[in-house]
Amino acid sequence: MPADAERPGPARTRADTPIPDSAEAVVVGGGPAGAATAWWLARAGVDVVVVDKARFPRPKPCSEYMSPQASRLLEEMGVLAEVEAAGAAQLKGMVIRAPNGSLIRGVFAGAHRWRGHRDRGLSLQRTLLDPILLDAARRAGARVIEGASVHDVTLDRAGRASGVMVATGGLRAAPLRARLVIGADGLRSVVARRLALTRMSRFPRRIALVTHYAGVADVGDLGEMHVDRDGYVGIASVGNGLANVAVVIPASRAGDLSAGRERFIEQWIESRPQLRDRFASAVRATPVRATGPFASRARRAWAPGAALVGDAADFFDPFTGEGIYAALRGGELLAPYAVAALAATSPLGERTALEAYERARRHEFGGKWLVERMIGTAVAFPPLLDRAATVLSRRPAMADLLVGVTGDFVPASAVLNPAFLARLLLLP
Ligand SMILES: Cc1cc2nc3c(=O)[nH]c(=O)nc-3n(C[C@H](O)[C@H](O)[C@H](O)COP(=O)(O)OP(=O)(O)OC[C@H]3O[C@@H](n4cnc5c(N)ncnc54)[C@H](O)[C@@H]3O)c2cc1C
Repeated sequence: MPADAERPGPARTRADTPIPDSAEAVVVGGGPAGAATAWWLARAGVDVVVVDKARFPRPKPCSEYMSPQASRLLEEMGVLAEVEAAGAAQLKGMVIRAPNGSLIRGVFAGAHRWRGHRDRGLSLQRTLLDPILLDAARRAGARVIEGASVHDVTLDRAGRASGVMVATGGLRAAPLRARLVIGADGLRSVVARRLALTRMSRFPRRIALVTHYAGVADVGDLGEMHVDRDGYVGIASVGNGLANVAVVIPASRAGDLSAGRERFIEQWIESRPQLRDRFASAVRATPVRATGPFASRARRAWAPGAALVGDAADFFDPFTGEGIYAALRGGELLAPYAVAALAATSPLGERTALEAYERARRHEFGGKWLVERMIGTAVAFPPLLDRAATVLSRRPAMADLLVGVTGDFVPASAVLNPAFLARLLLLP
């Protein structure tokens, strides 16, 4: 395995920020959602502390693709050039291979009237991307504490979140008081659990194995999804000569991993003729990381004194690969409501602000949630995907529309309408 395969970027010698007693807002988690939220809050003049249990760069199992609209948010945060300079791959669309071998090809610069912030998506290893985002939050004025784990959310007598309990290096947890607690702590969020907001979905229950290979043949500027009856694999360039490879299988197949995750991925590739030759000279470059099951949606994205953002609020399935965008956009969306909640002079005022955040989330993401579920269902029922693929492979304009929706710039209503669905399901 190449020594630098996890691409840690430049050495980070920054002295640890001491854990304060209090802040106006504490953001739990410094991934894309936490970094973006802290960036927007710090820019609005809020005294914000970010606490992450990891030290960055830290690995995060992810296919690492960002939609064209994510570039708008990276530009807002002033890091788009840095992300590109770090070697991000440019992806012009997606190709999906259905179980019956049909290919759905869709490009972002499609045959329709919508245009994204750019005509390309970006893809970059999370070990490179996430520190860039967190450093942007730091530069904006957020205090960032790495290697400190939040164990609990403290509540006041009225049951309102009043801060968190933070521990570093095996020391006893100490309180950090805050007027607003923001849970950006990803899947299995401690903040969501403690505030009884968690709701795991029964469908789809999938697990993922993620790694990087160097030397995969014919990795171009389309992200690839190869769907089979027993799962799917995503393959895409992440720049710097590496391809991200993510195999996603039903959680019921976890027992098949007994020979080891590495062997499982190797066998998956070897047993698929369309992949085998392309990996003949490829070398695995990073450890295989496992994650899942991942589908969950909080009952709501707020509680008195607290809000959730990113995966802590909801995540469905990697297939549509938009979690980084949702995390960045979620931070941008939350910030003004968080500022209003902090400025409120009564519990009712705070509640009004946080309820408005919930409505804004549903308005922003609701259509996309439906499309994700539609695609997730097709992936779980191969005859359905085969049928859709047969139609879409012959009608590239429809495929472009669907890829534009997953790219976050075509409104979900462009595919969630009787005309599109009838053509998809009824055309010969
Ligand atoms: C297999 C797979 C493939 C995916 N592929 C894509 C893709 O191609 N494109 C895409 O856009 N999205 C993809 N996603 C989704 C994407 O990875 C997530 O949506 C995104 O990382 C969410 O960002 P976040 O900041 O909410 O959470 P995270 O990135 O998970 O960050 C959460 C942070 O919280 C910290 N934390 C957790 N608990 C605590 C605690 N108790 N105390 C302190 N810190 C804590 C963690 O250390 C972490 O740094 C994929 C997901 C999976 C599972």
